[in-house]
Amino acid sequence: MESASEALGRLREGNRQFVSEVWRRDGAQSNQARRAEVAASQEPFAIILGCSDSRVPAEIVFDQGLGDLFVIRVAGNIVAPSQIGSVEFAATQFGTRLVVILGHSQCGAILATLDELRQPSESRSHTIRSIVERIRPSVEPLLATELANDPEALVEQSVRANIRASASQLRHGSDIVEELIEKDGLLIVGAEYSLETGKVEFFDGVPE
Ligand SMILES: [Zn+2]
Repeated sequence: MESASEALGRLREGNRQFVSEVWRRDGAQSNQARRAEVAASQEPFAIILGCSDSRVPAEIVFDQGLGDLFVIRVAGNIVAPSQIGSVEFAATQFGTRLVVILGHSQCGAILATLDELRQPSESRSHTIRSIVERIRPSVEPLLATELANDPEALVEQSVRANIRASASQLRHGSDIVEELIEKDGLLIVGAEYSLETGKVEFFDGVPE
């Protein structure tokens, strides 16, 4: 299995190809031969914990195919026990050494959380509320700053704060994850995908 930094390099390169539309047009990454190859076993080189937003499919924005990425998607890329368990599973079963928390600009879960903080609504379902409540702690302090007067910057900073919080929660999510980080080179980084440009910026936890 490749190291975290090698995996990060592959994701960066894949995203560059996606942005410049230099696709691997032969389809080799998802053709019948590849399907047969991965049917027996998988060795995903990165774990992506991303938002469910239809505009941010991990395999497409990183230009990867079958068997390349172990993807967990949930609105607002939040970290709850089932997400931590999924990361543990992939890291221990497949030896994957890179985890990316992938948030994105204009995230609906962040916008919903900001709405809820400005104007609490009783009508929201408790299941949606459970997502909002996980995002709230990283967003609420920003509303008490000057950002409250700058709606665009507030959303941008809230998206980033939520990604940082998710990465931090995952790093301390369980004894297994902590041990993988300390002893086995597991790296957890935060990244933001721009809906406008297609670029992924890795901004949290990336080694110099
Ligand atoms: Zn989103």
